[in-house]
Amino acid sequence: MRRIGVTLGWVFIVLFGAAFAEDADKPMYGAWGVDLAAIDRGIRPGDDFFGYANGTWLDQTSIPADKRAVTLRVYMSDRVEERVKDILETSAAHTADKPSDLTGKVGAFYKAFMDETRIESLGFTPIESQLAAVHAAQSRAALAGLMGRSNSDFYSSLYAASIDVDLKDPAHYALYLNQAGLGLPDRDYYLQADFAKQRAAYQAYVMQLLRLIQWPKAEELAGSVVAFETKIADSSWSAAQDRDVAATYNPMKVVELQKLVPGFAWKSYLLSERAPDIERVVVAEKTAFPKIADTFANTPVETLQAWLAFHVTDNAAPYLSKTFADAWFELHEKVLGGQQQPRLRWKRAITAVSGDDFIAGGRFGSFGTMGWGVGQLYAGKYFPPDAKAKIQELIRHLLAAYRARLEKLDWMSPATRAEALKKLDTYTIKVGYPDHPRGYSTLTISDIDLVGDVQRAAAADWAFLIARYHGAVDRTDWAMTPQTNDAYNGSLRDIVFPAAILQPPIFDPSADPAINYGSVGAIIGHELTHGFDDQGRKLDAVGALRDWWAPQDATAFDARAARLSAQYSTFHPLASDPNLHVNGELTLGENIADLGGVTLGLDAYRASLHGASAPVLDGTTGDQRVFLGWAQAWRGKLTDDAIKQQIVSDPHSPRRFRVNGVVRNMDAWYEAFDVRPGDKLYVAPEDRVHIW
Ligand SMILES: [Zn+2]
Repeated sequence: MRRIGVTLGWVFIVLFGAAFAEDADKPMYGAWGVDLAAIDRGIRPGDDFFGYANGTWLDQTSIPADKRAVTLRVYMSDRVEERVKDILETSAAHTADKPSDLTGKVGAFYKAFMDETRIESLGFTPIESQLAAVHAAQSRAALAGLMGRSNSDFYSSLYAASIDVDLKDPAHYALYLNQAGLGLPDRDYYLQADFAKQRAAYQAYVMQLLRLIQWPKAEELAGSVVAFETKIADSSWSAAQDRDVAATYNPMKVVELQKLVPGFAWKSYLLSERAPDIERVVVAEKTAFPKIADTFANTPVETLQAWLAFHVTDNAAPYLSKTFADAWFELHEKVLGGQQQPRLRWKRAITAVSGDDFIAGGRFGSFGTMGWGVGQLYAGKYFPPDAKAKIQELIRHLLAAYRARLEKLDWMSPATRAEALKKLDTYTIKVGYPDHPRGYSTLTISDIDLVGDVQRAAAADWAFLIARYHGAVDRTDWAMTPQTNDAYNGSLRDIVFPAAILQPPIFDPSADPAINYGSVGAIIGHELTHGFDDQGRKLDAVGALRDWWAPQDATAFDARAARLSAQYSTFHPLASDPNLHVNGELTLGENIADLGGVTLGLDAYRASLHGASAPVLDGTTGDQRVFLGWAQAWRGKLTDDAIKQQIVSDPHSPRRFRVNGVVRNMDAWYEAFDVRPGDKLYVAPEDRVHIW
């Protein structure tokens, strides 16, 4: 799926073993949904609200050696994981040799991943046919053909194809093409001095895998492969550029693409994608495309073959014998993520079968899973109708609160306001699970063929997308499975909250409503405002790519945004690295959405009282609980390496600043916690930024 939408960016979700009491009548934290024991009353709320709300918990919590983070979202993921494990193990215990039903297939897939003895005995033979195909591909055209199979097999590509709603013609689908081809997380890793350590580790890893598959001249070619990717990185757009929806929408006929990017065999590529009848594509990073093709055309075939052989192996490594899986862990999770130990096998099996957050996650867990099938079983068991009814009521209040804000927003011109209100009415908010289950009847799963299962599941996903390409867009579609602990705002003008995120501390049907409005309410509000902000302005009420803002709206918005950007750039996340600061520009869109989200959550909570005054619980007021709900939803700590990676590549600010950066701009917070001049987070009323 193309990343038009933006997720909440809980990229660092990792798994953690913990037991939960599943008592539906009691809130999970404290008497009414906030963990009072986590609060550090030695910290003034006005000095560090995140520290005040979470300080005791932060002091008492350390990051386990096999994790790069520990957060309450980790506990949520644990809970989901326990549930999914139960589903998969039960299914595996009852599966047949040749399963034909959904439960049986899911069980057989899990069993195949858990069969370590067999996997060990196979070495890298499961990818022999792919490696042989790379050996045989003696021309650039042949290599382009293999790259065209990156959606349905273990190959990688310099250009990634995906199918999603056409932004200029939202009733139909389009084939999008994005820059790709890098093995490190971002172009900066290749180009900036700070990442020398990671680069060296990557080159050693390339060499190690090439040696393990007995590829000729592994040592020499590893250097050439990394040099090749460095040139690709140099041609690639940055993460910030990639977030510009208008700049990344460049529709053209395939014949025009061939003219723009002559150095690449597009026909072979598209034929392999099984998209031969597609005549029109949408190119994302238009200026990068020909440069990447030039590099491809000027690199020896021998290097390109080694590059592709390495990537096949890298993509398949988590499913191969221990040597491969360990090497993969060392690079991807330890060096790049700061995680000290690999996860247990059954946890990795869950990722393989049920999937990861496949918008925010990596290739392992997003490629070749049966995620929708597992999601169907999950939602059937764990998303009760009363939780659904409560969240739908909260959403009604939130939409009404946003409508009221838009109606009186002082910086928006009347014509733009009318467009915004029209657009708001077309939004759908989806909760729990999709209306239509994905069919798996033609998918073959075998409990003795793990690599084959992954490949066939990936091919089935791609076949599903290709098959519906010529039909009308399905507005009930989901891009995230029900068991995903995340949410997104998509190109269907939809905001999607899977069943797995609708649990404490994000949402607790048993908690005091103020907590829910401060957590899930603010989070849904965050997503909602994305549809109207400097990204959302580019998509109109019918979902077409059209700027519906007037120029003066943009000027007014930018002036306010620039002040918020400057505020965030003063935040320093690491005591050990005082020069490292939040990139106010990269994180701007998300920070604005956070500010809007909490504003809407508070409005919606107040409206939900229908004129009654909020109850005081354990000495806390309703408004205080809304702010605490937000602050505690973000409770967590990350390794320094993970924070560094986040600062460079993640458009979301570190947790502390998602809290502190927001509240200091809200007048109600000053009243709720008696914040005064002299407090560290204090911002004078005239300098506070109000956007939504
Ligand atoms: Zn966002």
